[in-house]
Amino acid sequence: MSQHYDVIVLGGGPAGLTAGIYLGRARIKTLIVDSGSLGGQMIMTYSVANYPGIRQASGRDIAMTMKAQAKEFGCDLLSNVEIRRIHLAGPDKTVEIEDEGTFTAPAVVIATGGVPRTLGLPSEAAFKGRGISYCATCDGDFFTGKHVVAIGGGNSAIEESVALAKYAASVTVVHELDHFQAHPFAVEEARSNPKLRFLMEQDIREFVGGETLEKVVVSHKRTGEVTEIPASGAFIFIGYVPNTAVLRGQVALNDRGEILTDEAMRTDVPGVFAAGDSRVKRYRQITTAVADGTIAALSATEYLRNEAQPAVATKEALRKAADPSAPPAAQRV
Ligand SMILES: Cc1cc2nc3c(=O)[nH]c(=O)nc-3n(C[C@H](O)[C@H](O)[C@H](O)COP(=O)(O)OP(=O)(O)OC[C@H]3O[C@@H](n4cnc5c(N)ncnc54)[C@H](O)[C@@H]3O)c2cc1C
Repeated sequence: MSQHYDVIVLGGGPAGLTAGIYLGRARIKTLIVDSGSLGGQMIMTYSVANYPGIRQASGRDIAMTMKAQAKEFGCDLLSNVEIRRIHLAGPDKTVEIEDEGTFTAPAVVIATGGVPRTLGLPSEAAFKGRGISYCATCDGDFFTGKHVVAIGGGNSAIEESVALAKYAASVTVVHELDHFQAHPFAVEEARSNPKLRFLMEQDIREFVGGETLEKVVVSHKRTGEVTEIPASGAFIFIGYVPNTAVLRGQVALNDRGEILTDEAMRTDVPGVFAAGDSRVKRYRQITTAVADGTIAALSATEYLRNEAQPAVATKEALRKAADPSAPPAAQRV
């Protein structure tokens, strides 16, 4: 037997919990399902100092408060479950969960977030949170006056390296290619910053240290020359993987697997909304996830009210809204 809700929210990070808070408060029967721990990436964040209204708190504390709010407003919460199947087409969306059964709803908010791309080195995992970070905005401040390494050569790597230089004594940018893929203006700004130096055509061999990171070992791709870079911090900016594999073929994604939405967080499927890091966007922060969750909840509320005339974003409109300069690659992949 299936259980029916007005809205199912997939993912219980800041985007999903915020959507739940708004939906619950509007007396909309809501289920929040998380395949992992409720709280999302916030759980991994030791200290959050850029969430307005809270001077400083652990990500876990903020997550637990959001979870309590969603619960108080009447949301049902399911976490650490195995999702067997998601079916988004048609008026009745279905989510099948191992050992829990089948859940249906006319509207779904996808807030499955994502994870930073990793190098995959064992020493990277060992120093994660002890010197290795994937977010300059979040952790740059902790390296004030220290020497750090930034890995990557795209726009976010270069922009984040410049941002890191505001705190760090020096930033060594290490890239695998002999040129940066970032926009020339960004590269020019980085090159003119006296705190930045650049090591090109490098493989990352190893992260070395004791309790915390002490150095990054790299080797030149062509000559094999090994360089040890003393560093208390290493920031890895080599991309981002959205948690959308399970949605492939059901909702329009771009070629990076990010969900296309318009400003109202509508996808190309009637009744399906997306919020937070899983969708196409430039800045991935708790504040932006929370904003998306709010908008998705309000749009879902409006959709439920006007379900006879469901408004849905067209693929072309989604593509333009997501990135006006993007190639016409908006397709279901
Ligand atoms: C180390 C680190 C530090 C950070 N520090 C800060 C900071 O200081 N300030 C700041 O503003 N931002 C920070 N960020 C970024 C911020 O945490 C994210 O932008 C934000 O959490 C994104 O929220 P979200 O709800 O979209 O996704 P997430 O937080 O990624 O949550 C998504 C949730 O969905 C679940 N999920 C995944 N797949 C499925 C599925 N198929 N079905 C159901 N559930 C699923 C996941 O288990 C997860 O709980 C940091 C990120 C990291 C990694």
